[in-house]
Amino acid sequence: MTLAIPPREVDILIVGAGFAGLYMLHRAREIGLVAQVLEAAPSVGGTWYHNRYPGARVDIQSMEYSFSFSEELQQEWRWSERYAPQPELLRYANHVADRFGLRDGIRLNTRVTGAAFDEAANRWRVQTEAGGAWTARFLVMASGPLSAPNVPDFKGLASFAGPVYHTAQWPHEPVDFTGLRVGVVGTGSSAVQAIPLIARQARELAVFQRTAAYAVPAHNGPLDRDFEARIKADYAGFRERNRRMPAGFGSEQPPNPNSALGAAPAEREAAFEARWRIGGFSFLGSYRDIMLDERANALAAEFVRGKIRRIVRDPETARLLSPAQTIGCKRLCVDSGYYETYNRANVKLVDVSRHPIDAISPGGLATGGRSYEFDALVLATGFDAMTGTLMRLDLRGRKGLRIQDKWRAGPRNYLGLMIAGFPNLFNVAGPGSTSAFTNVIVSIEHHGNWIADCIRHLDAQGRPTIEATETAETAWIEHVTETASRTVYLTCNSWYLGANIPGKPRMFMPLVGFPPYADKCADVARNGYEGFVLG
Ligand SMILES: Cc1cc2nc3c(=O)[nH]c(=O)nc-3n(C[C@H](O)[C@H](O)[C@H](O)COP(=O)(O)OP(=O)(O)OC[C@H]3O[C@@H](n4cnc5c(N)ncnc54)[C@H](O)[C@@H]3O)c2cc1C
Repeated sequence: MTLAIPPREVDILIVGAGFAGLYMLHRAREIGLVAQVLEAAPSVGGTWYHNRYPGARVDIQSMEYSFSFSEELQQEWRWSERYAPQPELLRYANHVADRFGLRDGIRLNTRVTGAAFDEAANRWRVQTEAGGAWTARFLVMASGPLSAPNVPDFKGLASFAGPVYHTAQWPHEPVDFTGLRVGVVGTGSSAVQAIPLIARQARELAVFQRTAAYAVPAHNGPLDRDFEARIKADYAGFRERNRRMPAGFGSEQPPNPNSALGAAPAEREAAFEARWRIGGFSFLGSYRDIMLDERANALAAEFVRGKIRRIVRDPETARLLSPAQTIGCKRLCVDSGYYETYNRANVKLVDVSRHPIDAISPGGLATGGRSYEFDALVLATGFDAMTGTLMRLDLRGRKGLRIQDKWRAGPRNYLGLMIAGFPNLFNVAGPGSTSAFTNVIVSIEHHGNWIADCIRHLDAQGRPTIEATETAETAWIEHVTETASRTVYLTCNSWYLGANIPGKPRMFMPLVGFPPYADKCADVARNGYEGFVLG
């Protein structure tokens, strides 16, 4: 006879041990909750554990892309480069876990497969892949906005004779492309970081491009120690200034308050050049209207195309690398020698925009009536962004409502935080929040604090549950779309819209503008959680 193991009971169960899960655990313990993190991977670190492809690094400056909640932590940690590489970010996540004594609250190698809300008990019942069961009053999905890899359903993929690597599932032992012919599919952010390094090793590299990407230079290098000292002299002030920026970072290079349309051509060229020399996302702040007005945007886009024409020697390759869409509409890439890589004799660019990849064969792939041979295949094909991790779960709210039904036409929630019909479930850095348009760590801290305050409020009021109303939810998703419609974000197909995943409903998922979002979340809490029902 087998005895069923009773479920383990906690106050709050947190799915994922990336930066969001780590911070949520820390905050939950601070407010006295019994908390448990379940993490599928054998390590903490999330994004920076999984994405270890060559060249993987953050493209928001390290002094900004880091936790602000502990003055001691931010003073004692020393970044080596302007943009930290993946191994250093992973060390940082491990350091945070150790420094704040979090490890005993994290169960690794534990994938959550489903969760159902038990209405009689007002508790979530959570299952894991290994058959474990947990119950919790609160369930926090800290499972990552970009953590469900998108592996395209290419015909014949399984028949490929050599190794196939997805950038987000990179092996943990070193990968050596020396002497090999390599094919890379995709030209988004991960590809733009990986291609220059793969090209240096491989004998031949073929890059299969569906849509050309805009990339601005990172100008990465050792962290300027004078800059570090200046920031550390008033780190709290620096964080506060960044939180008031539209994307939660970049206060050192605030957007130019003028219109690109009003500037004389020479002045505009100089302004774009100055931002190009600074590097990184600040380029989009060359003028205030680049992301608001397609005509202003076209001027910035043409500046970058001019750079591509000057950098890339072969005119046909330069033409293919020159994007046609609005700049910044798809996530802007930040590069280290991306366009220059196409001047190498061992690199070729294959346009698959008109003829999609027909099939993968044991020795390569076929597209547009031509075949290409290679020994190793790299899929830099991104993620089922923002909704992927939840939609892959058997997640059920009241009356057994499945998340797949609830979100059939696209993700619905209120404040990006809570879903009507799914009481006491919080989503960190998910759709309907500003996460994807920010320094995500700023968003993670904001969400962790909001959730902790909300739980404290419920306890103070003796209320067991909180749940978004459908009315608030409907108004919120209209607000997210309406906000996007005042920008250029709806002018292209992007993962923000779900357009990279066949069959995914087209709905603009992230919210533009961190400061008004943070103000709105604070107002809602201050006004007794309007838009929510407290049980
Ligand atoms: C290559 C890359 C570069 C990026 N660069 C930047 C950048 O420059 N700036 C920026 O702000 N953001 C960047 N991001 C976004 C990045 O995801 C966030 O900055 C941040 O790391 C998200 O942290 P998180 O904890 O929310 O999610 P993640 O770090 O994705 O962690 C989620 C964790 O949940 C686990 N998980 C998921 N589902 C389950 C399940 N069912 N059961 C158990 N565990 C589960 C995963 O294994 C993962 O460890 C980048 C993302 C990628 C992929």
